[in-house]
Amino acid sequence: MSDGIRRLAAVLILVAGAALLWLAGQHSHDAEAAKNDLDSTVAYAREHAASSDPRLKATYSFERGGWVYVHLEGDPATVGFQHGYLLAKEIEDAFPAVQAGMVRSTRRDWAFFRQVAREMLWPKIDPEYQQELQGIAEGLNARTGSQLDVYDIVALNSFEEVPDYYVPWLNKKEKLAGAPNLKSPGNCSAFVATGSWTKNGQIVIAHNNWTSYMNGERWRIIFDIQPAHGYRILMDGFPGVIASDDDFGINSDGLMVTETTITQFEGWDPNGKPEFFRARKALQYASSIDDYTRIMLDGNNGGYANDWLLGDRKTGEIAQLELGLKAYELWRTKDGVFAGSNWARDPKVLKEDTPEFDPNDMTSSPNARRVRWEQLLNENKGKIDVSLAQQMLADHVDSFEKKTGANERTLCGHVDTTTRGVSVWNWGAFYPGGAVQGKAADSTMAKDMRLVARTGHPCGEDFLAKPFLAAHPEFAWQEPYLRDMKAGTWTEFRSGEMPAASK
Ligand SMILES: [Zn+2]
Repeated sequence: MSDGIRRLAAVLILVAGAALLWLAGQHSHDAEAAKNDLDSTVAYAREHAASSDPRLKATYSFERGGWVYVHLEGDPATVGFQHGYLLAKEIEDAFPAVQAGMVRSTRRDWAFFRQVAREMLWPKIDPEYQQELQGIAEGLNARTGSQLDVYDIVALNSFEEVPDYYVPWLNKKEKLAGAPNLKSPGNCSAFVATGSWTKNGQIVIAHNNWTSYMNGERWRIIFDIQPAHGYRILMDGFPGVIASDDDFGINSDGLMVTETTITQFEGWDPNGKPEFFRARKALQYASSIDDYTRIMLDGNNGGYANDWLLGDRKTGEIAQLELGLKAYELWRTKDGVFAGSNWARDPKVLKEDTPEFDPNDMTSSPNARRVRWEQLLNENKGKIDVSLAQQMLADHVDSFEKKTGANERTLCGHVDTTTRGVSVWNWGAFYPGGAVQGKAADSTMAKDMRLVARTGHPCGEDFLAKPFLAAHPEFAWQEPYLRDMKAGTWTEFRSGEMPAASK
């Protein structure tokens, strides 16, 4: 408390000083310029006062290869405060983009999402993650004076599950006439391999994130989290969100985790626990494939339903957890490979959770990529390592047309290049979305808490917003948010690494 009072006193002194300056400046400035001076002095005072906050002692960040690396350390409230403070600029940039997408696709206003966050999601989140989410709002406010509160942050955290899972379920329940055509997303191409499939028998895991370029260009945070309880985490992520969410992460007890989303998934349990919270908890606390499965099943709400691809470097075992709501299946092996590209395969999950999905339509993106994964992985059996995984994430072979050229059917997706779009996700012609970044690791890297990551299309091609918007005015609504998505180079990150001494 006394720290808080001291900080407040420091702010007040600086504000008073600024006001005097403002009065003194009345002669030489016009009122508006003086007001700007006052505002910037207050902002400086706030930031300066907050920067000496003891909660920020152990935290730091740096940028490399297009990624923003943040080291967060401490109890849940402290980890949250550091997150909100260090990534304030990125959160304030990402929030309006995500918000615009959620409001537009669902035709629901932001008050709706805040209410869902407060009434349905918040009560089911463990206290430690409530504290972390609260901390994010506080850290953000301390840095910039942002008016976003914890329910805005919770709504942001739910951006993969509430708009495309809860809202269509609600529309159906309420028999809403003229409801928007909402479909669960189909994010990502990924695999995990082990045993005789890999070059030296260890686990290799790799993933590229498919999403809108608008959101995807902002999905470039590397989180190194050293929590007071549970295992240390190294994962990629999104500003303001406590889970990796796309997902790719490793923990210090040997778990290696990724997923691809289940296309045309339907269902929601309003009494379940939010997916973003379960996914973060599982990465932080799971010591084994069994632990991971147990945590994801506990309070499964059906939101952001994924095929989880898991590895345990301690045992060399890998697994696929196909997490439906009405049904689920777990496959595991110490010698094999599991790939994902947004298709379900368990007959019960297909029948009960994805009734509309057609696994035999080979023209569709999920099925075409499934065929391509099978070709690539079989061709390279026994040779798979991290550098080969990087090439696979950048693959541009269309298995349906049997030719090379990036489109919606290639593992490195470029949906903006095709008139077909991806109807099963309700992505229309030339939708500005596809593979937006990639990550990979093997067991040795996981043991050292290392991963490699590349921003932008994993193939290295740039997406340029201006010519795209000029050619496709139907996406003009994205203009305030859509940016160039330039590809970086594959860059290695390690838990606990410090920023380079000088630049
Ligand atoms: Zn590509």
